Amino acid sequence: MKQRLTILGSTGSIGTNTLDVLARHPERYEVFALSAATRVDALLAQCARFRPRYAVMASGAHARELAEKLKANGLPTQVLQAPDALEQIASHAEVDAVMAAIVGAAGLAPCIAAARAGKRLLLANKEALVVGGEVFLRAVKEGGATLLPIDSEHSAIFQSLPEDRGCWARRVDHVLLTASGGPFRTRDPATLRDVTPDEACAHPNFVMGRKISVDSATMMNKALEVIEARWLFDLAPEQIKVVIHPQQIIHSMVQFVDASIIAQLGTPDMRVPIACGLAWPERVASGAAPLDFSQLAALTFEEADARRFPGLHLSWQALAAPPGTTAVLNAANEVAVAAFLAGRIRFDQIHALNRATLERVTPSKPDSLAALLELDAHSRAVAAEQAGRLQ
Ligand code: NAD
Ligand code: MG
Repeated sequence: MKQRLTILGSTGSIGTNTLDVLARHPERYEVFALSAATRVDALLAQCARFRPRYAVMASGAHARELAEKLKANGLPTQVLQAPDALEQIASHAEVDAVMAAIVGAAGLAPCIAAARAGKRLLLANKEALVVGGEVFLRAVKEGGATLLPIDSEHSAIFQSLPEDRGCWARRVDHVLLTASGGPFRTRDPATLRDVTPDEACAHPNFVMGRKISVDSATMMNKALEVIEARWLFDLAPEQIKVVIHPQQIIHSMVQFVDASIIAQLGTPDMRVPIACGLAWPERVASGAAPLDFSQLAALTFEEADARRFPGLHLSWQALAAPPGTTAVLNAANEVAVAAFLAGRIRFDQIHALNRATLERVTPSKPDSLAALLELDAHSRAVAAEQAGRLQ
């Protein structure tokens, strides 16, 4: 039987890489539904190639435009327009697996819907887990879903851990998340206030969406990944460490109680963790070039400089604070990154805005999806107000 997939965010960097892997294995996978925010023609082209039953767009105007173009091209895909259309395609009875590749907290509700419906949930959308925390994991457990990490570091940790989850707590000492250090790893910190959005998005090893690219430049991406690791692997915050490894060959490591370390290596290509999640526990070809050790000059490591990357430590602080604080941090950061990309705040003000928002919002233990969405909206409003005060 073919695995039927819904891809949330199919026109993005992870979405298109996922379709690239799927196209290599038409005998194993079938696309059931695709979704995008605004890029009608890109989604139309995907519908022409992969023939999904459903397509979803974030706004009514885009949905209508897509529906007209599908019809004009004689394509059978139906455009779903309900407010809960993403939840519908994520939880549909005929879907086996859901690739969560929307960026930001916008992906939380469909992730929870897929979890409650017991799907194989391939999670690239780290913000959903950072916001959702325990509520997200409860939905996975109650729905009997299989949560598999797509973020390359978490896929590496997942691949390095024993298959039997029951023994992790006894055997694992800590995990080491590797980080590239982004485009400003060696730049004079005094000049960081003047960097432009395009400079911040010029990642040394990956072409990614603009939000995660800015997060890589501030290392807020790693901060979100620390929180993501806490929930995925049920670790105490102090069991999660970060080391900069500019070549991005080692994707992360697990150190066991006997001081033995297991790492996962490969060329930096997101199709590897995507293929791994799709096929797990089997393996399928990903299209990535294998690592050529004869061409590897050196693997180097360094500590993250707190002056250059002040945001990294907000993750451990947020995990130590009352539940819900990680959702506040994520909302602040989404607002800050959008403001930076729109030219409204400076690069160094992203951190200032995150801190100012954390100081002003005290969450009251959000215990449901509705409470989380309310906290997210409130934190965004506070962050937007604070952004207006910065100069
Ligand atoms: P992207 O910006 O390239 O793509 C985002 C996708 O989500 C697009 O298809 C867009 O149309 C859709 N989308 C955006 N906002 C939406 C909304 N409000 N409602 C519905 N759809 C919406 O981003 P990306 O780089 O592919 O990243 C996606 C997620 O995967 C992020 O959470 C990111 O942190 C994570 N991730 C990405 C990479 C990578 O290499 N790109 C690696 C690890 C993790
Ligand atoms: Mg990552």
